[in-house]
Amino acid sequence: MNIILLGPPGSGKGTQAGILVSDLGMVQLSTGDMLREARSSGTELGERVAAIMDAGELVTDEIINSLIREKLSEGQKSGYIFDGYPRTLVQADALDTLLEELDIGLDMVLELTVDVDLLVARIVGRLSCGRCGSVFHRETKPPAVEDTCDNCEGELQQRKDDNELSLRTRLMEYYQKTAPLTGYYYRSGQLKFVSSGGTIPEVAAKVKAALPATG
Ligand code: AMP
Repeated sequence: MNIILLGPPGSGKGTQAGILVSDLGMVQLSTGDMLREARSSGTELGERVAAIMDAGELVTDEIINSLIREKLSEGQKSGYIFDGYPRTLVQADALDTLLEELDIGLDMVLELTVDVDLLVARIVGRLSCGRCGSVFHRETKPPAVEDTCDNCEGELQQRKDDNELSLRTRLMEYYQKTAPLTGYYYRSGQLKFVSSGGTIPEVAAKVKAALPATG
């Protein structure tokens, strides 16, 4: 099964993808994580995208599409969760072409819907592990030990783009460039909506119930 998770920043895509990875053994393809990894390992790509990401703007389609092409060319045909990709109609078109070329199917597109006021609260309290990328929240998912990752004991930090100014830009980018993907996938008949209000386990249960039956 291969699925795309759509939804605005703070809608819980990364958290829900993480749950599907640990419960169903799927592979999370998060373009945001790939870019953050490039930055922390100091690659030329990382340097090129740093300011764009911190401002909350979108990185170019060319860069993002080639990151995904590289990952999907590794040979695996199933078990992918696309998290934060595609984010523009150009990326959605490129993904369709790539999936066809590599003979990889797309089973469903799941859009997490959420109240805009909730997004701000979620993002402003969010903490991410600088080492393994796990995500926590000061109120709704606090780590056992303050500022320390439960999984790898790495230091928890606030993402540079998790501030109100960048968030406003990210939301603007989302509504202008990513929201049209709802129409794109609705048209293809592959789209389902899940409300991401509620606790993390409650949303996870709704996500699992929406997945296509396997086996
Ligand atoms: P995320 O972790 O998905 O919130 O992504 C963090 C940032 O990485 C975004 O605000 C963009 O600057 C960049 N980014 C991640 N995925 C994409 C994408 N598919 N297209 C363009 N920019 C992206």
